[in-house]
Amino acid sequence: MANVKVAIRVRPLNSRETVDGGRIAVQVEDKVVRVRNVKLDGRLDGRVEAPGDSRERLFEFGFDYCYWSANPEAPNYASQEEVFQDLGMCVLTGATEGYNVCLFAYGQTGSGKTYTMMGNPDSIGLTPRICQGLFRSGIDSPDGKSCRVEVSFLEIYNERVRDLLRGADQKKPAALRVREHPEKGPYVQGLTQHVVEDYKQAADLLEEGIANRITAATHVHDASSRSHAIFSIQYTQATLENNLPSEIVSKINLVDLAGSERADPNYCRDRITEGANINKSLVTLGIVISALAQNSQMCSSSQSINSMLSEGEASTVGSQSSSLSSSSRRQCFIPYRDSVLTWLLKDSLGGNSKTIMIATISPSCSSYNETLSTLRYAAHAKNIVNKPRVNEDASV
Ligand code: ADP
Repeated sequence: MANVKVAIRVRPLNSRETVDGGRIAVQVEDKVVRVRNVKLDGRLDGRVEAPGDSRERLFEFGFDYCYWSANPEAPNYASQEEVFQDLGMCVLTGATEGYNVCLFAYGQTGSGKTYTMMGNPDSIGLTPRICQGLFRSGIDSPDGKSCRVEVSFLEIYNERVRDLLRGADQKKPAALRVREHPEKGPYVQGLTQHVVEDYKQAADLLEEGIANRITAATHVHDASSRSHAIFSIQYTQATLENNLPSEIVSKINLVDLAGSERADPNYCRDRITEGANINKSLVTLGIVISALAQNSQMCSSSQSINSMLSEGEASTVGSQSSSLSSSSRRQCFIPYRDSVLTWLLKDSLGGNSKTIMIATISPSCSSYNETLSTLRYAAHAKNIVNKPRVNEDASV
């Protein structure tokens, strides 16, 4: 059993926020994030949570990692390398031990998801660093293991799956179908898999996929903020155990989600083309995360009451315990198949995977409401319990 690990990252103020006065609503200290709505001229700065409410509020959240990347001069400034040393190394360690690992970035458009996951040529992000790390540690393994790395890169846009590595010859590739294998779980039929032998080949494919996303975005305004991108790495380690061949196959999913405002009905109400803005996959992800968090809490409260019972505190809590154990048997249904994203990430959410979420936020007062909603979402995700296991197959 392993809880989803959750990290928060605060990006620098952008030029609009600086021109607006550059007021900061977020503070990071060790593993705690504080958000304060700043009172200005007798009213709240930023949009008010409840109209007419002018109280100053302070919210505090605890997470596994909190990164302050807002200004490089700060003593607690977290660079791309520092984020990689924590989160990227968790991914690499998990994968080399034989676990499936998923890392996903969540946050409003412009909050730093793509910077964190992909980076730019001057400052590469988690995905290329993880690829570098795999080739640095895995391929020339000194313990006689031979390793194979295969990658795929897809995009989910309007509930349709598009292969980002299909090659230049197919100008308008057809949408691919998601199917479910009885043992291996959900997969995308016809998605191209590419064997890569060194970091350069992986980086070239990553670049090609990103370029394909950008090309499409010129046809549909703002497409990258509406779509989810999943870069997957299948990492196979083959060994001989007692002279019998054995394989450990780990899948790494690195996910750059659509802007979280796409799941917010208030955001869509403000816009003329409302229906089109709501992102079904993102909304379903929220529902799945809430349901899983609720189920995990039910289990842990029934477990803690059971442990109290076994410690002799039975009489007063007996009836509560029996109602909890029956309610834990009636756990929420998890609607994985209601969206393409949650179906594909089924294992990463409550299943056979070690999962990390990085939630990105702006430090600015003007994003106060969005920041609070991202932090609440992330706090929910922290309650999800997964059941990762080593994917060893000795029958190869
Ligand atoms: P998103 O993917 O969430 O829409 P981006 O990653 O594109 O947002 O970030 C928006 C802008 O902010 C980009 O210009 C990006 O370079 C910059 N940015 C985001 N996070 C950071 C950071 N930690 N350090 C420096 N610049 C950042």
